Amino acid sequence: MRKRMRLVLVMLAMLLTLNLGSVAQASSAATPFSSHRWRHPEVTYVYNTKSTYYRSIYQKAIKAWNKTGDFKFVAGTAKSHDIVLTTSTATTGKYNMLAGITFTKADSVGYFTSATVKLLRKNLATYKYSKSDRVHVAEHELGHVIGLQHSSNSHSVMMANNRYNAIAGVDKSAVAKRDLMPVGKSSLSAQ
Ligand SMILES: [Zn+2]
Repeated sequence: MRKRMRLVLVMLAMLLTLNLGSVAQASSAATPFSSHRWRHPEVTYVYNTKSTYYRSIYQKAIKAWNKTGDFKFVAGTAKSHDIVLTTSTATTGKYNMLAGITFTKADSVGYFTSATVKLLRKNLATYKYSKSDRVHVAEHELGHVIGLQHSSNSHSVMMANNRYNAIAGVDKSAVAKRDLMPVGKSSLSAQ
């Protein structure tokens, strides 16, 4: 029996803009959590890239999130997975000046049902992102997958133009409190 789920595209543009040297504003604000989240703090992933380099970047970001103990990314299978991790060489349109992008879908209640993350390797090369910079971009995008939104906190991995920050205490505590957030109470717009 095939059950058709009514999917709503909630986030078209969870953008991570390229950091072109703007001065970050110091702030101790908590990392905001969206009104959408997964039913359980665990999702399965597959790669849609053969690049061992980018797989290792995603692996490092996954390891960093898994280490927090508040959310877990587990290898899925081609037939059964929640999220797809890939790369793109796109540089124009909605990909202009971005390092990475995450697309999520949620059901009508507000729970995520799937997500796709793309690391924009041409832009990353153009702006000379180091491997650790790229891991930070992957950590940021996986933060969007979890449900985190952009933060003004200069230490947060969720800073809109983050290149240098790893997952910070404020990011971890926002994810730890995810179950307390109301689900589907407001619609998300591009960020
Ligand atoms: Zn972002």
